[in-house]
Amino acid sequence: MTFNDLGLSAELLRAVSDQGYSQPTPIQAKAIPAVLDGGDILAGAQTGTGKTAGFTLPLLQRLNSRQPARGKRPVRALVLTPTRELAAQVHDSVKAYGKHLPLRSSVIFGGVSIRPQINTLRNGIDILVATPGRLLDHVGQKTLDLSQVEILVLDEADRMLDMGFIHDIRKVLALLPKERQNLLFSATFSNEIKQLADSLLKTPTLIEVARRNTAAEQVSQVAHPVDKNRKRELLSFLIGSNNWQQVLVFTRTKHGANRLAMQLGKDGLSATAIHGNKSQGARTKALADFKRGAVRVLVATDIAARGLDIDQLPHVVNYELPNVPEDYVHRIGRTGRAGNQGEALSLVSADEQKLLRDIERLLKREVTKQLIAGYEPSASGTPEAIAGDRQKPAGAKTNNRRRDNRSTIRSSRNRKPGGSNSRSGHPRSGGKANAGQSAPTAR
Ligand code: AMP
Repeated sequence: MTFNDLGLSAELLRAVSDQGYSQPTPIQAKAIPAVLDGGDILAGAQTGTGKTAGFTLPLLQRLNSRQPARGKRPVRALVLTPTRELAAQVHDSVKAYGKHLPLRSSVIFGGVSIRPQINTLRNGIDILVATPGRLLDHVGQKTLDLSQVEILVLDEADRMLDMGFIHDIRKVLALLPKERQNLLFSATFSNEIKQLADSLLKTPTLIEVARRNTAAEQVSQVAHPVDKNRKRELLSFLIGSNNWQQVLVFTRTKHGANRLAMQLGKDGLSATAIHGNKSQGARTKALADFKRGAVRVLVATDIAARGLDIDQLPHVVNYELPNVPEDYVHRIGRTGRAGNQGEALSLVSADEQKLLRDIERLLKREVTKQLIAGYEPSASGTPEAIAGDRQKPAGAKTNNRRRDNRSTIRSSRNRKPGGSNSRSGHPRSGGKANAGQSAPTAR
């Protein structure tokens, strides 16, 4: 299957080829013809599957095939996203795929001045990407008319509901014409999502590319049992000794994200935090610095990281496990994107054992437990204790069921001081973790 088989116009095929894509992803292969047909769709797809192009390309084609006569352009396609970052990213895609078409688009979200947005809207645009809150602000100020919307996209609908946007979404729906095409994308299908889909969609085409509630197949997952108070040291060690250059680290709280970014900085690792308390400018800058490699570690909270699209992100670390198991799936979905191999590590302390078991229940599989020599936890945090009822014989170091040819990292205590690995970043070696040395063992 190639993009040429999907019924897209020459301008869109050119834009796709400009992006360097040669083959549609599974969701694109299914969604593009379905959207071009004009029907509603309900798609189960995580970030990383190529879903954005899956709805953007056919949406552009449909709008372009029926240009409004003349005068001010009404908004004809509305894409709602849960976060500012995702809105900005979706808009980047709209611009990239629509660059050979005469359509106008814009993005609006909160946290930045509303004035320039008002001016843009006044000039008329065809496609609007927005977060729900700021969208309703514009409606309230009568700077936006949604009565001509032909296509509605709800992107990451499950996230929007998690973030409490259901009332805002209902308000927006009430402003739209009854006759329209609806595209709903969600990584998970809770009862709430099903209810929303039932009330919104007319005989939708169902598209599912990842099994329900399963983590991206190409992400290898491992949990390192460790005492809580040694997590930061272990993280610095892993980054330094493996020479990781781009790592996304998740913490549970904003304060925790700030503190960890600062501590990593002291360990010699350039790090920055991204969370909801930071201004939009600071968040955009942090993400840009991370993307271009100026910052090695991005420490994020769940909400801030939603929808982050960072190409080929190789490593995601759960510094703390999330309280909600579905968030784990979203977190590790940041790696292993679009066919690339990814690795998700979790630093698991004794008090997080139940959270890990909940995650394994959701994934319907065990996550490999792997001790790191020199960071073995005190008795209650051992893999055996973490495995709970799946007791291992005394002395068993790891659960090898899904082990993927990687060897346990040996402690630098076993290496000669001053040797080639003396600046490995192991905290007990006293070295900084920022040097670009090779890993102590193959990983
Ligand atoms: P998304 O799931 O929409 O966030 O897309 C995930 C990533 O896949 C983005 O970085 C896209 O640029 C990339 N991507 C989308 N479609 C393709 C494709 N057909 N081939 C390769 N990469 C793609």
